[in-house]
Amino acid sequence: MLNQLLTDIRAFLDERVHPMEREFLNTPFITIKPKLELLRAEVKARGLWAPHLPTALGGRALSLTAFGQVSALLGESPIGHYLFNCQAPDIGNTELLHMHGSPEQQAQWMIPLANGDIRSCFAMTEPEFAGSNPIHMATTAVRDGNDYVINGHKWFSSSAENSAFTIVMAVTDADAAPHKRASQIIAPMDTPGLTLVRNISVMGEPGTDYASHAELRFVNVRVPITNRIGAEGDGFALAQERLGPGRIHHCMRWIGICERSFHLMCAYAVKRELNPGEPLALQQAVQHWIAECRAEIDAAKLLVLDTAAQMDAHGAHAARERVSLIKFHVAGVLLKVLDRAIQVHGAYGMTDDTPLAYWYRHERGARIYDGPDEVHKTSVARRILKGYGLTRS
Ligand SMILES: Cc1cc2nc3c(=O)[nH]c(=O)nc-3n(C[C@H](O)[C@H](O)[C@H](O)COP(=O)(O)OP(=O)(O)OC[C@H]3O[C@@H](n4cnc5c(N)ncnc54)[C@H](O)[C@@H]3O)c2cc1C
Repeated sequence: MLNQLLTDIRAFLDERVHPMEREFLNTPFITIKPKLELLRAEVKARGLWAPHLPTALGGRALSLTAFGQVSALLGESPIGHYLFNCQAPDIGNTELLHMHGSPEQQAQWMIPLANGDIRSCFAMTEPEFAGSNPIHMATTAVRDGNDYVINGHKWFSSSAENSAFTIVMAVTDADAAPHKRASQIIAPMDTPGLTLVRNISVMGEPGTDYASHAELRFVNVRVPITNRIGAEGDGFALAQERLGPGRIHHCMRWIGICERSFHLMCAYAVKRELNPGEPLALQQAVQHWIAECRAEIDAAKLLVLDTAAQMDAHGAHAARERVSLIKFHVAGVLLKVLDRAIQVHGAYGMTDDTPLAYWYRHERGARIYDGPDEVHKTSVARRILKGYGLTRS
C-alpha cells in the first residue's frame, strides 16, 4: 500500500508539479495561488490528499515512519507539502486540535483545516524575548467574564497572512510555576484588536500569503474562554507535544530537499563541460562532494526514519533525545548539501531557475526555528554526560 502511494505521488510530482516549479519560484505566492488550488483539487481527486491524517479526516492514517517516506518525496518540490495539505504550521495545528481540541473547536477549525478550506498560524515567539527560552513572554490573556482579553506582540508567525485563525501562546497565570504560566488559545484573525503589522522581510523577501512570516499585535483581543486548547497552564506541555513530531516532519522534508539538490548537482556535473568532452563531473573535488553528500544524506535518512520508528513505538517523550539529535544534525546536512549543489551550478545556482537558491534562502532558518542547534546540542550532551555522573546543569 505504501509503495503504491509513493509511486502515485512520484507520478503526480513528475507530471504536474516539477514542470511548474520555475514559474512558482519567480512569482509571488499570492499570484500563483489560484494555480496551486487547481493542483490541490487534483491531489484530492487522485485520492492522495493529506495521507498523514486519520481516515475519518480524509487521510490514510499513515504511521510517522510511513509518512516520513512520503514527506521526503514531497520535500523534493518547494510546493510539495502545500499541495498535499501536509504543510507547517497547519499540520501541527491540525494534530493539536485532533488530540486536544474540544468537539466544537474540531468542528469549527480542525475539519476545515483538514479539508484545506482554511489555513492557520502559530504565534509563540516575541521580538522582545529569547524564543529559545519561551517561558519568558509578555503576551497575557486575562479572564473577563466568559472571555479572555489578550494583549501582546508576536513575530515570525509563519503563514499568518490570509490565515483564518492563529493559536496564540499567552500567559494566563503569571504566578504559576514557569512551565504552567501559559495557555494556547485560538484567536480568529479577524477579531478586533488583532493586527498583522507587516510581513517581515526575510533574506530579501517579505513574502505573501502562505509563504510569509508576520509580526502581529494583540490589543484587547477578546475571545471566548472556550477557545483555549486543553487546560489552563497546559500551553508548554502542548507545545512540547506538538514540537516532537513537528521536528521530525521538518527533518523528513529536509531529506527530500537534499535528495533533489543531490540529483540536480549530479545531473549538472555530467552536463556542464569545462572543455569540449570534459564534463565538470570528472573533477575530483566534485566527485568527493558527491560521495560525501550521498553518505551524509543516507545516514541522515536512516537516523530520521529510526527516530520516527521510536516515536511510533514508544511515544514522543521516549524519543525526545533522538529528536534533538536529528534536529541539529539533519539541518546541518541540509545546508551543506545545498551549498555544494549551488557551488557545482556556479552562477546558475544563484538564480531562481532552479529551486536551490530558494531553498538556500528559506532553509537557513532550519538551524534556528523549533530550537536553535546550540539548545539541542546542549540538551543531548547533558543527558549523555548525566550517565557519566555530571550532576550540574
Ligand atoms: C523561518 C522561521 C519561521 C518561524 N516560524 C515561527 C512560527 O510560526 N511561530 C513562532 O512562534 N515562531 C516562529 N519562529 C521563531 C523561532 O521559533 C525562534 O526564532 C526560535 O525559537 C529562536 O528564538 P529567537 O529567534 O528569539 O533566538 P534567541 O532565543 O534570541 O537566540 C539567539 C541565538 O542564541 C543562541 N542560543 C540561544 N539559546 C542558547 C543556549 N541555551 N545555548 C547556546 N546558545 C544559545 C542560538 O545560536 C540562537 O540562534 C520562526 C523562526 C524562523 C527563522
